[in-house]
Amino acid sequence: MEHFDLIVIGSGPAGRRAAIQAAKFGRNVLVVEKGRRVGGVSVHTGTIPSKTLRETVLNLTGWRERGFYGRSYRVKEDISAGDLRARLHMTLNHEVEVLEHQFARNKVHTVSGHARFADATTIEVEGDAGEVMQFSADKFLIAVGTKPFRPDYVPFDGEYVLDSDEILELSELPRSIAVIGAGVIGVEYASIFSALDVHVTLVEPRNSMLDFLDQELVADFTHQLRDRGIALRFGAKVEKITKNGPADCEIRLEGGRCIRSNVILFAAGRMGATPSLNLDACGLEVDHRGRLKVDPMTFQTNVPHIFAAGDVIGFPSLASTSMEQGRIAACHALGEKAYDPPEYFPYGIYAVPEISTVGMTEEEIKERGIPYECGVARFRETSRGHIMGLDTGMLKMIFSLKTRRLLGCHIVGEGATELVHIGQAVLNLKGTLEYFVENTFNYPTLAEAYKIAALDAWNRMPHLER
Ligand SMILES: Cc1cc2nc3c(=O)[nH]c(=O)nc-3n(C[C@H](O)[C@H](O)[C@H](O)COP(=O)(O)OP(=O)(O)OC[C@H]3O[C@@H](n4cnc5c(N)ncnc54)[C@H](O)[C@@H]3O)c2cc1C
Repeated sequence: MEHFDLIVIGSGPAGRRAAIQAAKFGRNVLVVEKGRRVGGVSVHTGTIPSKTLRETVLNLTGWRERGFYGRSYRVKEDISAGDLRARLHMTLNHEVEVLEHQFARNKVHTVSGHARFADATTIEVEGDAGEVMQFSADKFLIAVGTKPFRPDYVPFDGEYVLDSDEILELSELPRSIAVIGAGVIGVEYASIFSALDVHVTLVEPRNSMLDFLDQELVADFTHQLRDRGIALRFGAKVEKITKNGPADCEIRLEGGRCIRSNVILFAAGRMGATPSLNLDACGLEVDHRGRLKVDPMTFQTNVPHIFAAGDVIGFPSLASTSMEQGRIAACHALGEKAYDPPEYFPYGIYAVPEISTVGMTEEEIKERGIPYECGVARFRETSRGHIMGLDTGMLKMIFSLKTRRLLGCHIVGEGATELVHIGQAVLNLKGTLEYFVENTFNYPTLAEAYKIAALDAWNRMPHLER
């Protein structure tokens, strides 16, 4: 039986980064992946496909030009599901190729098959043809990610009633879609389909969405969705889902309201992909959502030689944070020096429009009793915004009145997920309002919104004695 310093189960962002980090330390590492190709949910059904779809939709619909040419403007009439898929496959192939090359270059061993624990230091890997191999290791990293939550009351059929993995394989563009679940995934797909002029209904049992974001941002975003004609059914519990025939689905809500649509996307949660790992054999337990508990600083589980990272350990369940978790976990597992991640990481939501945020929300700051002031800029106040024909988009910064430090930065609009990194750098380097007021920004850029928002706050803040 072959023995390794580290065995990584899963080749998504967490597993991939952990394996490469281990190889860079000169250790002998094996990655086990049950999918057809390496990359994980991130490359095959999650991050990259949904972002590619978004970009394709924005390009083919001419979304970014509609500020100038009107809502009926389209770069391509009659956009088909095939048009959307074509670019998807090209992007995914590039991603996988880069990853395979990275593994080869760093001498990371890979094996294709389904891993499960035989005992605490041995795994069995079952290949496609049913052959079983055994491997042992000193240390393990579980990075198996999640699967869509598929409750029994939803009549999934892979054609009209779909989960968020299946939505990418739509054979035809629907005229209407009902999205159940206004979490990040649901909101992203709802707004992407709406940009294609598909009629969208977004159903959410709670009375609000994206509660972890600054609420001023959510209010702006919600207004934009409504303005585009997306029907928001909040505080609406699903009672029954029926498929009446091809492209004819019905959702009955508690209270009697009914939603009819060609297609239903069920995007209400994901479950840790742990059931088939045979965790009993290594002494690990999972919670009700199949997730593992770890030490948040080291990613060590309560079985000392087994670590876990990525979506399988729960919040924030992002590819970006999973990569860092995997890398840090590998350092701790192999007894190498690891630096703790900074307190604040950015959160990106690739809806149309984009949302991105870093640091504390206004609600959190109030709760902590920190005296603060906010500054807001609208993208239409920037010259770049005029050039791009933007009539929406806002950037909000929150500063401490006492220290003048940036506490939070919240953006909705074009380029938000890129722009946020300026705020992130200033925040994590403990910068103050003065950074934005005193520095020159390229002109014309959307980044100028930082200066405008800072000046807006400066107007109401006590002025510095110099
Ligand atoms: C629709 C969607 C959009 C998203 N958009 C974004 C985004 O814009 N930005 C962002 O940062 N994040 C985004 N995410 C989240 C991101 O995809 C995840 O956070 C990330 O993929 C988690 O990485 P991971 O390494 O934990 O696991 P995954 O990427 O889930 O990979 C786990 C791998 O483990 C393999 N595996 C599972 N069980 C076994 C086993 N027993 N044996 C062998 N292999 C196994 C699986 O086949 C899979 O390849 C999105 C997710 C979804 C679903």
